[in-house]
Amino acid sequence: MLDADFFRRWMTVAAASVDREAEQLTALDSAIGDADHGSNLQRGFTAVRATLEKESPQTPGQVLTLAGRQLISTVGGASGPLYGTLLRRAGKALGEAAEVDEAQLAEALRAGVDGVMALGGAAPGDKTMIDALAPAVDALPDGFAAARVAAEEGAVATTPLQARKGRASYLGERSIGHQDPGATSSALLIAALEEAASGA
Ligand code: ADP
Ligand code: MG
Repeated sequence: MLDADFFRRWMTVAAASVDREAEQLTALDSAIGDADHGSNLQRGFTAVRATLEKESPQTPGQVLTLAGRQLISTVGGASGPLYGTLLRRAGKALGEAAEVDEAQLAEALRAGVDGVMALGGAAPGDKTMIDALAPAVDALPDGFAAARVAAEEGAVATTPLQARKGRASYLGERSIGHQDPGATSSALLIAALEEAASGA
C-alpha cells in the first residue's frame, strides 16, 4: 500500500530530478519555446518541497492537493496550471484514504491526465506533456517501471511531431525535430514514482 510518506517521497524525488535536469529542460524549451521550462519547474518544486515540510499533510490525497496548489501559484508558465491540475485532480480522486493501492493511484492519475487535457485542450500527438503522461497512465497497471519506460518513450516520440498546442505551436513546422520540454519533465515525474517506491 502507498501512504502519505510514499507521496511525499514522490514529490521530493521529483524535485531533485527537476533540479538535476533543469538546464536540460530549459535547453529544450529554448529550441521551441521561451527557455524557461527548467527554471519554472525548479521554482515550483522547490516551493512544493518547502510546503510539504511545513504543513506535513497526513494523507496521499492531501499531499497531492497541496503540491498541485503550490505549482499553480508559483510556476509562471503554462506548465504550472497544467501540472497543478494533474496533481490536484489526482489528489481529489484519492479522497481521504490514509493508504491507497497501485490501482487507485492509476485511476487517480487517469483523472489527473483527463483534467490536463480538459484544461489545455491537448490530445495525444499534439507534442505536449500529454504524450508522456497518457501512455504512462496506460502502462501503470503493469508497474512503476513499465510506466517510466512508457513515459520516456512517449517523450522521445514527440521529436518528429509538429506542435499543435502551447508556445511551440507558434513555430509551425519549425517545431519538428525537437523533443518537447513538457513531455520530458513529465517523464521525470513518472520516473520519480519508481524511485519513491524503492524507498529513496
Ligand atoms: P510556457 O510555454 O508558458 O513557457 P513552460 O515552458 O513551463 O510554459 O512549459 C511548456 C510545456 O508545457 C510544453 O513543452 C508542453 O509540454 C506543455 N504545454 C503547453 N501548452 C500545453 C497544453 N495546452 N496542453 C498540454 N501541455 C501543454
Ligand atoms: Mg517556456
